[in-house]
Formats: sequence, structure tokens, C-alpha cells
Amino acid sequence: MPVEITSAGNFSGNLKAELKREVTSDSISAFEMAALMIYVVTQTVMARKSSKGSAEEFFPDKLTLPLLREAAADCKACDLWKRGTQTVFGEGRRRATVLFVGEQPGNEEDLTGKPFVGPAGRLFDEALVEAGIDRSQTYVTNVVKHFKWEPRGKRRIHKKPNAQEISACRPWLEAEISVVKPKVIVALGATAAQALLGPKFRVTKQRGEFIESTLAPYVMATVHPSSILRAPDDETRRLEHRRFVEDLKKLARVIK
Ligand code: SF4
Repeated sequence: MPVEITSAGNFSGNLKAELKREVTSDSISAFEMAALMIYVVTQTVMARKSSKGSAEEFFPDKLTLPLLREAAADCKACDLWKRGTQTVFGEGRRRATVLFVGEQPGNEEDLTGKPFVGPAGRLFDEALVEAGIDRSQTYVTNVVKHFKWEPRGKRRIHKKPNAQEISACRPWLEAEISVVKPKVIVALGATAAQALLGPKFRVTKQRGEFIESTLAPYVMATVHPSSILRAPDDETRRLEHRRFVEDLKKLARVIK
């Protein structure tokens, strides 16, 4: 009986042509048929592994933080894995009360594999202490888990992730939120705020306000600590630092 193989998924042109040929039980032996079927299955798996689009394709069978972290290390759902040194997954307590979300790892984070350890991370730690928030109650992560950068001389300069990269990486963040189940989520900066609260959200207008959301009982956005470091002068930096601590104090009140 003739067997026609017509579906070759994302296979290359040659392979598609090869698989489209009609195979009959008269023309090949059972052994050849079995070999061909193994070839089809192997190529399907390979095509899936290298396909782009969503981090969900790389999810482990069970959603736990250690398994998610391990799986994210091999993620190739967008092209940023080629540019960054490693995946920088979130860190913190499994049942953290507050989950902070930044945009993406920076240079130091990329090299160490840990989130919020660079200059902005140190400023963030200081602000948490000033606001009276225990760092051990928190989980910190980013919307995008690989460092996107462009060369400038010998330096690697941060480059904003695009919509496709944010969308591809988003399932990791959703999985982190679903496992941690924080009482409060704080988006740090416009990229995180818009990824979580929609493209119309404006940090400049709504920073420090609790926004109604299905993500957690309390959701707030404020600036990213790196924007404070980029302030044009010391006085602006001091002012912005104070405003950032004031925003953090609001969430400190709801977790007491
Ligand atoms: S940025 Fe996110 S989606 Fe893209 S390769 Fe890295 S972990 Fe995967």
C-alpha cells in the first residue's frame, strides 16, 4: 500500500523534496522504511529545538525554579543567546514576597550570570536598605534573560531589546511569577512596566502607584536604578535616588 509523506515541518528544501517522494512497500524494504521513519522523527525534533519564537519550547516538564533555570541556560528562542555570555535567570527565595523585574542583564550580570550585581544592582541594594526592605524577602529577575549589547570601542554598550525578543523571553518571566507567587511585583523601568502592564503604561506618569492587575495582589512600576546612575548631575541623582526610595517605601508598607 502506498505511503505518502508530505509533512516535513520546518525542514530544509532538500529534505522536504526527499520526504515528499512517494514511498511504496514494493520500492523499499521494511528496514529502509524503519530507517526513514527514524530520520523523519529525528529531523522533527531537531527542527523544533532550533526553531525561534517562544521560550516555552525549552520549558522543562516540571515548573520549579531550579529546573527552569537549568532549561533557560540552553534557551535559543531568540537570537540574543548568540550575543550574551550566558542566560541570566532570576534569583531569590522561592516564596519571595516581592518580585522585582528589570529590563535585561547588564555587562557585569552577563559575566557573572547573576542579576542585579552591577552598579545599578548596588544602587538597588542600597535603596532597599533605606526603604527598610529585607533583600532576603525578594526575588529579582529581568524581562529578557540575555544581555543585548553593541560594541563601542572596547566597551559593550547596552542595547534595548526589541518586541520580538521580549515576547520570546516572556514565558520565563511568567513561569517565575507562577512559581514564586509574590504578593507584590515591581517593574523597574519602562521596558519591564510595558511588558507587564501594557504598551500604553507610562512610568513617568504612573510611577509609585499600585496598578490593578491579575499578576499579583499589588503591582507597581518605578524607574530602573540605572536611570538614576545616568542622571546628568549630582543634585538630580540625589533627587532621583530619594524618589526611588520613596516608591520602595510604599511597597514596604504593604508587605509589613
Ligand atoms: S533572551 Fe530569552 S528568549 Fe532569547 S535566547 Fe535568551 S533566554 Fe531565550
